[in-house]
Amino acid sequence: MNVMTSPAARAPVVQGPATRRTFAIISHPDAGKTTLTEKLLLAGGAINMAGAVKARGENRRARSDWMEIEQSRGISVTSSVMTFEREGITFNLLDTPGHSDFSEDTYRTLTAVDSAIMVVDAAKGIEAQTLKLFEICRLRDIPIITFVNKVDREGKNPFELLDEIESTLALSVAPMVWPVGMGSDFAGCFDLASGDFLHSKARAHGPFDTVTPTNGVLDAKLDGLVPEHVVGHFRDEAQLATEGYAAFDAEAYRQGHLTPVVFGSALRDFSVDQLLKIVAAHAPSPRPQPSDKGEVEPTSKAVSAFVFKVQANMDPNHRDRVAFVRFCSGHFKRGMKLNHVRSGKALAINNPIYFFAQERALTEEAFAGDVIGIPNHGTLRVGDTLTEGESFRFTGLPSFAPEVMRRVRLADTMRVKQLRQALEDLAEEGLVQVFRPIFGSNWIVGVVGPLQLDVLASRIRGEYKTEISFESVPYTTARWISAPDEKTLQTFIEANTMQVARDRDERPVFLPKDSWELNYARKHFPSVEFAETRELV
Ligand code: GDP
Repeated sequence: MNVMTSPAARAPVVQGPATRRTFAIISHPDAGKTTLTEKLLLAGGAINMAGAVKARGENRRARSDWMEIEQSRGISVTSSVMTFEREGITFNLLDTPGHSDFSEDTYRTLTAVDSAIMVVDAAKGIEAQTLKLFEICRLRDIPIITFVNKVDREGKNPFELLDEIESTLALSVAPMVWPVGMGSDFAGCFDLASGDFLHSKARAHGPFDTVTPTNGVLDAKLDGLVPEHVVGHFRDEAQLATEGYAAFDAEAYRQGHLTPVVFGSALRDFSVDQLLKIVAAHAPSPRPQPSDKGEVEPTSKAVSAFVFKVQANMDPNHRDRVAFVRFCSGHFKRGMKLNHVRSGKALAINNPIYFFAQERALTEEAFAGDVIGIPNHGTLRVGDTLTEGESFRFTGLPSFAPEVMRRVRLADTMRVKQLRQALEDLAEEGLVQVFRPIFGSNWIVGVVGPLQLDVLASRIRGEYKTEISFESVPYTTARWISAPDEKTLQTFIEANTMQVARDRDERPVFLPKDSWELNYARKHFPSVEFAETRELV
């Protein structure tokens, strides 16, 4: 891996966890998540060249050449972290893959954040994937800031959008930044709290470049800057917006009862700065994390962290593997030996990596909330806990029952070793679940969405030079089985040998053909438990 240290890639100024904001952006594909990410990085100074956005796009393409799928489908398959810093706050932005087929990966990424920004397309409102991701956030009590994007285009009426958010998500909404005209009338955005009018010298089509402070929506300055019919309408709307909705309440937001709403345009940079300021001022700093021995406070002295993602082959020239680790407590220093709880072994962390917009750099230290990459050769797995000595493990990172099952066929049977390695690696990344039937020699893979199968075949072809195809199997899902005593479990397995497999940790799994069969098995073996998820590790 190309680890470099350059002025743009210094380790962040170090303070305690109170200065960390670890968050993700959730959205439906095409709402503008990538554009907003780039603009947030620009606002945070992580990238500061005018052409950086384009350059980043090209870089990214070059980097992901090995992942043809990403290119041909125009989707981002992997998630990563981007760290930047502004005014003493360290922001760790975790990227979540947008496609609905990768919800498992996204779910795990969301276990590592303390808050989220929900991007909504002004013309489309709340879309399916947004809703799904929102529900995951709600389950985990992750507070949400809403960014209504693309107000420079024709869209739904802002009140309609607010009411939709309020009723669909059952949240109070607090408008913070309001659009001054939309679509062809778009003249800028207005910060309702500060009275700042954000506009463009180039007027209708230009990017945001000017802030004009005002004394509120009635300030006569606006009349000189905004066409008459637009400013009149805006004043009426702004009044309704402030009187008709909840005022911003930081506590209600942090408890997940209220979402501040910022209208803006990621593409043209309107309201991005305001958004970042809200994250800095109000988004929660690292929260206590659940473990099997109780909650771990971010202020605890001893270092603790968990792996929420593993990415193999980030650089095709180096067969490395990077485990993304979120710190939950303590003050980590480079070179520290941490207890790898699953194996009980000490692990010296000599090459912890921070990820910046375009670069990676070694870091000297990290606090709760920080996310770093640890290059390793397969020691670290998703769900692993690292501590300064204590033996406990963080909980809540589930492995889901797959919804699509296939048998893997090798084109060239001489490549069975490569296939085994590939499946092991990619199962470790969490891309696929791998099962070995107790009878029969072919692997069975399980995924949450069918697009993952294409990614799997493409990566095995590209990275392991092995051609595979998939055959359908009669099973529709998998259930991890357990029983209070070994004998009952054995009896069940013997009665169902053709439909029992082992996962990569040798745990027995029942592969039912349909829900009827699953219910039948439940009825006949009432003491056997059929788990839909299992905690990793
Ligand atoms: P993602 O799939 O959510 O990552 O969306 P992208 O950031 O790739 O944006 C999808 C499309 O919407 C791209 O063509 C962007 O240029 C466009 N887009 C993003 N933000 C805006 C905006 O504020 N205004 C307009 N008009 N287009 C935008």
